[in-house]
Amino acid sequence: MIHTRRSVLKFGGVLLGAAATGVIAFPGRATARVRKDAVPASASGAGFAEAGPGAVKRLSLYNLHTDESLEFAFFKDGAYVPESLAAVEVLLRDFRNDERHPIEPTLLDDLYEVARRAGVDPVFKVISGYRSPQTNAMLHERSPGVASHSLHMQGRAIDVRLAHVDCAQLARHALAMGRGGVGYYRRSDFVHIDNGAVRTWRG
Ligand SMILES: [Zn+2]
Repeated sequence: MIHTRRSVLKFGGVLLGAAATGVIAFPGRATARVRKDAVPASASGAGFAEAGPGAVKRLSLYNLHTDESLEFAFFKDGAYVPESLAAVEVLLRDFRNDERHPIEPTLLDDLYEVARRAGVDPVFKVISGYRSPQTNAMLHERSPGVASHSLHMQGRAIDVRLAHVDCAQLARHALAMGRGGVGYYRRSDFVHIDNGAVRTWRG
């Protein structure tokens, strides 16, 4: 379900081939062949399902700190997929001490939507997901830019890069959604997205 870099490389051909052939790996089952038009396959974003009862929302997340990646459908048949949310909780754990926290599913909607708006596949690199109180306190001490009551501690914030979109552009798209907080960290090259109050800042 969660692949280390090694296992991703092992069937990297399959994953890399996904866009071209319509082959994609789903959590909890073997690599499956699906109809090409059912996969968000093109850089135009044309593969995004329309919102509706039959909508399937997929994401691809790669955790830079752990080398783990996950490609999954987190929403289908009108509901969030519990197995996917469980896998996301593991992927986005606090890598410093392996503590986990449920991730707010609407945060996944936000990632999906911002990629749709940017017109690219929802393929993200994750710099930071859940942060335990200890980790957050340590980071806050190091950098005043880290809030002491960060939404990362509630599984309601994520720091990401989106493939094929520069972070300034990603921040603009995220802000245009009007769904929560957006922080643009130019020097570290990532965007913080959370589902707290609508606000923006630069790091
Ligand atoms: Zn953040």
